[in-house]
Amino acid sequence: MDTSVWTQDHAWAAETLESVNPATSEVIATFPVHGAAEVGAAVQRAREAAAWWAGLGYAQRRTRLLAWKSHLTRYLARLAELVHNETGKPLADAQLEIMLAIVHIDWAAKHARKVLGPRRVRSGLIAINQASLLEYQPLGVVGVIGPWNYPVFTPVGSIAYALAAGNAVVFKPSELTPAVGGWLVSSLREVVPEQPVLQLVTGGGETGQALALSGVDKIAFTGSAATAKKVMAACAENLTPLVAECGGKDALLVGADADLDAAADAAAWGGLSNAGQTCVGIERVYVAEEVYHSFLEKLAERAAAVRPGDDREADYGPMTMPAQVEIIERHIADALARGGRPVVGGLSSVSRPYVGPVILADVPEESRAVTEETFGPTLTVSPVRDLEEGVRRANDSSYALGSAVFSKNGRRALAAARSLRSGMTSVNSVIAFASVPALPFGGSGNSGFGRIHGADGLREFSRAKAITRQRMRPMADLTTLRRSDKDMNRVLQLITLLHGKRYR
Ligand code: NDP
Repeated sequence: MDTSVWTQDHAWAAETLESVNPATSEVIATFPVHGAAEVGAAVQRAREAAAWWAGLGYAQRRTRLLAWKSHLTRYLARLAELVHNETGKPLADAQLEIMLAIVHIDWAAKHARKVLGPRRVRSGLIAINQASLLEYQPLGVVGVIGPWNYPVFTPVGSIAYALAAGNAVVFKPSELTPAVGGWLVSSLREVVPEQPVLQLVTGGGETGQALALSGVDKIAFTGSAATAKKVMAACAENLTPLVAECGGKDALLVGADADLDAAADAAAWGGLSNAGQTCVGIERVYVAEEVYHSFLEKLAERAAAVRPGDDREADYGPMTMPAQVEIIERHIADALARGGRPVVGGLSSVSRPYVGPVILADVPEESRAVTEETFGPTLTVSPVRDLEEGVRRANDSSYALGSAVFSKNGRRALAAARSLRSGMTSVNSVIAFASVPALPFGGSGNSGFGRIHGADGLREFSRAKAITRQRMRPMADLTTLRRSDKDMNRVLQLITLLHGKRYR
């Protein structure tokens, strides 16, 4: 797809932004900076589209969304090239995130009716004269504000579920990845040409702010906790509900009985892939002390072999956002100043726009590299007595997004997984939960609130509608001004019979 179309389409825009390849600084395309008026007009158009789209019903929406999935699959190579150019990530990583997005569109399309469609529910003895119906209706227009690190997988996690639930979407991608955002919007238009059920607005934070203030029926935000607070404040103006998918400080726990090779592979990939620019990337590793040194050796060996670059053989690309490099430098410097030990790399690993792999051992828990999201290819590794202590340390964080546990003892691993406060945990792998569309995705604390993906993700973009239909007159009518004492006593007796039993 020729992305220059976006430049021509919006030649009238007063202000523009350039999308730039972070590895080569080459300009990919120019986009308008949309202000409140343009955002408001898009939301207005979306209102009409939403009514049309909701009216199509589940079956037709399913067909259209499956057609979108199929389009994305057939054009995967082109989209991956664009993701590679705009973010700098290796082509294979771009392909991987698109494949995951495809799986999510498929699931959302196929499960929307089952999860959201009308169903009868039991009315209970007290309301036995009522037929009760529950359904989940679309909200209307959903504003999606996306980040740049996974410019396909992350927004599609909201867009696909919002569309499957019957909403129209106005999407503001990060100013670093507007071309990928534009591609997604154009691709949906290929299969839904009648109405703009997915629209693109481009610009920086102010455009996002305008969308949050625009009176949409929900905002699905993915980004940092700091920005989420601003978005939430803007949403408060109209009591616009918000789902916030924010950052993480994910921990990987290694038990004494773990497969150390598998754990070291997972830590290396979870921490270093995509240059560590992954919300559910591993940033902290807690290892049972009996196996600490062997694990560290295996991890160091793997990390030392990793190389960033722009070529096809590189393991990961440049830092997409130049300003992030300073944060990474600060975290490494702070960890070393507090007595942390560099096992692989260190401050010298920073060579803009690239950051080589950095493994830091024995970093004090109060260091920034342990408490704040680094969002770079760095890992801290610390010894712990056992999995239980690992859980305690992992939970001692303002973030709670993802986590991983390695142990050959299934019962102990599951107990640890359950005790971890994070929204998602993978046992004996990393980030596996993101590839299971039936599982909800989201966190708590500084990692945000609400859920995308799965049945919870579909309900996140719906409003529950409860309907009762009176089938016959009640045995005892208590909701009338002509209520009798006899009826009241009858119901009181029934309630006592049903609920008055003592429980111990
Ligand atoms: P930011 O918080 O900087 O930005 C996120 C989005 O919000 C961007 O589109 C940004 O626009 C926009 N924005 C900025 N200011 C405002 C504002 N005042 N009002 C409304 N919108 C605004 O995050 P990044 O793009 O840097 O993404 C990285 C962060 O995202 C990390 O913390 C990462 O962990 C998190 N993340 C979380 C995921 C999850 O699912 N939990 C998945 C992926 C990333 P612009 O970029 O144009 O400034």
